[in-house]
Amino acid sequence: MSDEIIAELLCPNCTNVIELAAQHPDKIQCPTCEHQFLLTDHMCPVCFTYHAEKTVVCHACGKALNRLCRHCHTTNWSGDEICQNCGQHIDLITQISDYTQARPGSRLHEDSETIRKIKEQEQKASEERMAELLEIEKQRREEIYRRMAAQQKRERQLLLGTVFVIGLLLLTAVAYILFTSINP
Ligand SMILES: [Zn+2]
Ligand SMILES: [Zn+2]
Ligand SMILES: [Zn+2]
Repeated sequence: MSDEIIAELLCPNCTNVIELAAQHPDKIQCPTCEHQFLLTDHMCPVCFTYHAEKTVVCHACGKALNRLCRHCHTTNWSGDEICQNCGQHIDLITQISDYTQARPGSRLHEDSETIRKIKEQEQKASEERMAELLEIEKQRREEIYRRMAAQQKRERQLLLGTVFVIGLLLLTAVAYILFTSINP
């Protein structure tokens, strides 16, 4: 893993280059298309894949999207070198090696625990996505039903109007015939 500070990335909307140095390190606005997006939980600092839904690992390359500041426990984007909260350097590699040196043998357990948590989060995210899709589908059906009902109402009103006009014409005709037969 390279430790180079990421200076620019590609806009997930228009793919133009965005200078990171000119902006707040978490919330980014593309100067070309003005599209706004978040880095933490969304942008992979390794392959630059943008995830519209919050996620902890990159769906494309499997790299972590966030890392925790060892000093103040703030979640930072894993492309950041410096904690947004306390300004300390956050280096994931140092963090992990410190951890494993301090507690040998606990690494495997920690890893499976992390994987379990990631899987849980992914599961929850996909359930939320599914619920969202169902809700959209429900609204779409309701909208279609509303439009059909409105259309039927319009048709009924048109029919009533037509019947009324024809009735009026008939009445006028009958009145005219009666009038002319009484007063020839
Ligand atoms: Zn853009
Ligand atoms: Zn990636
Ligand atoms: Zn910090």
